[in-house]
Amino acid sequence: MSKCRSCGAPIIWITTKAGKAMPCDAEPIFFNLADLDDKDAKFLIKDDGEVAKGIVNPAGDLVGHTSHFATCPQADKWRRK
Ligand SMILES: [Zn+2]
Repeated sequence: MSKCRSCGAPIIWITTKAGKAMPCDAEPIFFNLADLDDKDAKFLIKDDGEVAKGIVNPAGDLVGHTSHFATCPQADKWRRK
């Protein structure tokens, strides 16, 4: 497991289907697939690199990770690089 260089949070790197390594929060999130127009949905990256739009649900049948870009308090610094 790695740590975010900006905020120190535990992160994992997942390679997406597009071939890009993406920093994600290490904590797994359980979710269900959302409809495309669902406003409460958020993007989650599954362990196999597939990006899904889901509704967080502790009893959900899928598991993924939140992009750390979305949760890092220092994300502005990251983006500038
Ligand atoms: Zn961070």
